[in-house]
Amino acid sequence: MSKSPTVPLTLCRDHASTLPAGGPASPDPASALHEVLDRLGPSIFAGLLDTDGVLRYANQAALQAIGSTPEQVIGRRFDDTPWWQACDLSRRRLQHALASALRGGAPRFDVRVATSSGATLSMDFSLLPLYGADGRVAWLIPSARDVTEREQAQQQLLLTRHAVEQANDALLQVGPDGAFRDANAAACRLLGLEREQLLRLRVPDIDTQVDPAQWPQRWRDLCEGRSLRFETSVRHREGHEIPVDVSVSLVTSDGTSFAHVCIDDLRERCAAERRIRQLLQFDELTGLPNRQLLFERLAATLQTRTETAVLVLELDRFKRINDGLGPHIGDAVLREAAQRIAATVRNADLVARRGGDEFVIVMPSPAVPVLHTAKALLEHIARPMSIEGHEIHITGSIGIATAPADGDHSDTLLRRANAALHQAKLLGRNQASVYSGAPHDDDPERLALETALRHALRDEQFDLHYQPQIELTHGRIVGVEALLRWQHPTLGRIAPDRFIPIAEETGLIVAIGDWVLRRAVEQAAAWQRAGLPPLRMAVNLSARQLLQPDLARRIEALLAASGLDPHLFGVEVTENMLIANFDQAVLHLQALRALGVEVSLDDFGTGYSSLSYLRRLPVDVVKIDRSLVPDVTAPAEDVSITRAIITMAHSLRMKVLAEGVESEGQAALLAANQCDQMQGYWFSAALPAAAVETMLRDGRQVDPALLGRRSRQRTLLLVDDEENIVAALRRLLRAEGWLVLSASSAEQALQLMARHQVDVILSDQRMPGMTGVELLRRARQLYPNTIRLVLSGYTELQSITDAINEGAIYKFLAKPWDDEQLRAHLREAFALKEMADQNRRLDQEVQTANRELAGLNGRLQSLLSAQREQNKREVGSREAAQELLDAVPVPVFGIDDEGLLVFANAHAQALCGRVGDLLGTPAAEQLPQALRQALEGEPMLVTLAQRRWWAMSRGLNGNARGRLLVLLPEAGAPT
Ligand code: C2E
Ligand code: MG
Ligand code: MG
Repeated sequence: MSKSPTVPLTLCRDHASTLPAGGPASPDPASALHEVLDRLGPSIFAGLLDTDGVLRYANQAALQAIGSTPEQVIGRRFDDTPWWQACDLSRRRLQHALASALRGGAPRFDVRVATSSGATLSMDFSLLPLYGADGRVAWLIPSARDVTEREQAQQQLLLTRHAVEQANDALLQVGPDGAFRDANAAACRLLGLEREQLLRLRVPDIDTQVDPAQWPQRWRDLCEGRSLRFETSVRHREGHEIPVDVSVSLVTSDGTSFAHVCIDDLRERCAAERRIRQLLQFDELTGLPNRQLLFERLAATLQTRTETAVLVLELDRFKRINDGLGPHIGDAVLREAAQRIAATVRNADLVARRGGDEFVIVMPSPAVPVLHTAKALLEHIARPMSIEGHEIHITGSIGIATAPADGDHSDTLLRRANAALHQAKLLGRNQASVYSGAPHDDDPERLALETALRHALRDEQFDLHYQPQIELTHGRIVGVEALLRWQHPTLGRIAPDRFIPIAEETGLIVAIGDWVLRRAVEQAAAWQRAGLPPLRMAVNLSARQLLQPDLARRIEALLAASGLDPHLFGVEVTENMLIANFDQAVLHLQALRALGVEVSLDDFGTGYSSLSYLRRLPVDVVKIDRSLVPDVTAPAEDVSITRAIITMAHSLRMKVLAEGVESEGQAALLAANQCDQMQGYWFSAALPAAAVETMLRDGRQVDPALLGRRSRQRTLLLVDDEENIVAALRRLLRAEGWLVLSASSAEQALQLMARHQVDVILSDQRMPGMTGVELLRRARQLYPNTIRLVLSGYTELQSITDAINEGAIYKFLAKPWDDEQLRAHLREAFALKEMADQNRRLDQEVQTANRELAGLNGRLQSLLSAQREQNKREVGSREAAQELLDAVPVPVFGIDDEGLLVFANAHAQALCGRVGDLLGTPAAEQLPQALRQALEGEPMLVTLAQRRWWAMSRGLNGNARGRLLVLLPEAGAPT
């Protein structure tokens, strides 16, 4: 390199490293500059290079970042220093940049810098040339600013924005005035509005339950509680209303508040509720109210205290038709009978199917004598029915009881109408009989039990047995239910179903219940002390216990005395118990849950089960009654009820336990439908404490493979009643490496599906018992995710097209088959299955992600404030850069790309006097005449303040556009 230009810094090449640290204020501009550069803070690196690219100076921040002393780096080629070790790309860029800066460019780019602590910083790096008096580049100034945090924050912000926009939930921001400030795509879709339209509205415009006058109060409520959750409905642009669940949380940032609103569309849930209600309350076959709705309506009618007749009608010898002509003819007869009954009675009368061939008619304030109606019913039923070409003759028998004469309770009336029906059948059927009032109520057996029960507690005839409860995800025992056992010395073992109602009625249940609670808690605590795995003990409560005002306190005291962790204790209550005294029961349950005690709703599906009511109950677990626990051979509707209950409970964040599981098939079906837990004879009946303890010590559990957690080998199920076909197919598919199961009947196929996680089913169409299409329809109901194909030589076109259209069959393949084609179809079916599995998994992940979004939104706010902080810091570092230029001991002017004077450092101000006033005015007009020319072209010598200067101007081409005008004193010029 040629002679070093004279620069105001007059640094000799090795001077930088020997500068005295601190010391008295030096008039030396170089050390003043270093001091400034060293004070710029940890996030701004600055240095000085000579034109050979050798580092001559580095500020403290830069040195600290790489943990080096000046001696270790000064004098080395800059691109060879530790700052550039982390990233080759950055180093190559630097090399280009050095070349470009030497040509007068001012390169600026992002680099990655490795620090001595192991972190990698993202930095905004620039290289500025500094000119000598000869107009040539004399020095290069590298500087870099840490933008790691800003980059991370920006990336997070982008991600969060994206997530918010893509969320399935409708998300909105609302200001204190109720106006929408932001909305994501899901919110726009929900309301049928464009974003711009939505952002012109206020909450009262879409929420049907808030009018503008109420809004200020809403906002105050929110400010007070910080969050709100409620159900309402919103108005779609097309006018219809949509039921929604709304969660609102207040966000305060920088002193301003807004509400973050998440809207959950309840339409699907409401539809599911309606459907479940329908399934739970109506008989699928006849469409009539079922037993449950009958009880509900009859009870309501009896409360009105009007005279009410109850008729129980049973079809005579119906079994004969069912067995002789087949169940589908039997079903048709029941439907026809239901229609005839409904057509005979008044609209105001209730006709229900109580089960089997039994109907019940409830007639409030009968207009004609009830016997007349009964006769008309018998006549109608007895008329021949023509069903599928059969002429069928059937008769009925009727028993009648009337309120209030025969009782004013549903149970009593139905029991008495039954007694009358019995009478009618004794009289030879096809008859109606009215309850004759024989007083059976003083049942001697019952009286005997009541007396015996009074002594049972005192004589220690009670004991507790424990039935294990299994978690279906892993198959292990997680709890037990305590069940009361009564062994009477002469009457023998008496079932709880017989004595508990008597204990309830007589009030003895309170003392018995106390005994059960104490005993169960002690047992559970003893098991824990003995080092058995954690196990939750559940105890059945009775209605009367639930009415005791100090129930929760007593349980708390028992738990405390025994040392049992309340999380290892639970209570079971039934809906019927809750209905009696809803508010108090709810308070008790809330108090128990607050202790950590788990609350289960027992026998769900037998009482007045209403799902909307379920939502209001403080319940952790829904125990599905065993009557609703389907088996693989159960009708598809049963499975859909169970599935619907499970889905609903999960959406209310409740667990589901299935009771009375008696077979492996049931367990597998429940597991496949996401049921959480089960109990039942299949795993174990209730056992004495010692036996349960042995079971726990032995670690007995359900084989997880059965619960669908086996390794996932592709599994194909072949169904064909012809053995040679199955054998040929097995041979054909041997090389595929699939697990191939085979069944020779539909029945056997269903059993296999319960035990194995089947992916693809290939079934023959024509088989004894059930056709292939019927089997696949059933399979679709039970295991909707399977891919189902028919392979048949026989084309019963209509049923197959129907099945394909309704989605039960994926493909129909013809026999005889082409080997290659069949293999290809099956491979395609597996691929499809795997894709669908993958989609479901993704869908689930998306749903989880959506739930997490609410949390993310909180973080969004903190990111936004971090961003604002960062902006402040950026302004700060810009100011620092200006400070840096101020400290450069030569005059420097900045002119923006519109030619306005935007910057003048201290020396420039000193030189030109009132430049401060001129900032923002055109440089060409305001600068001293001598300098104006320099703005345009080559470096030129000018005289100012009796001194000669080299005036040089260069364009800036980084982010800051415009020009920099620098004045360097001419070497040796007189001062
Ligand atoms: P629950 O609470 O629904 O108890 C489950 C009942 O189902 C028990 O009958 C149990 O032995 C039976 N069970 C379990 N697995 C199966 C199965 O796989 N198949 C069938 N068919 N049944 C199964 P249990 O012990 O006869 O009790 C009957 C009812 O008596 C209980 O129904 C509960 O409501 C009541 N109960 C029992 N112990 C107590 C008690 O200590 N206090 C109160 N208040 N009620 C109790
Ligand atoms: Mg129970
Ligand atoms: Mg139960």
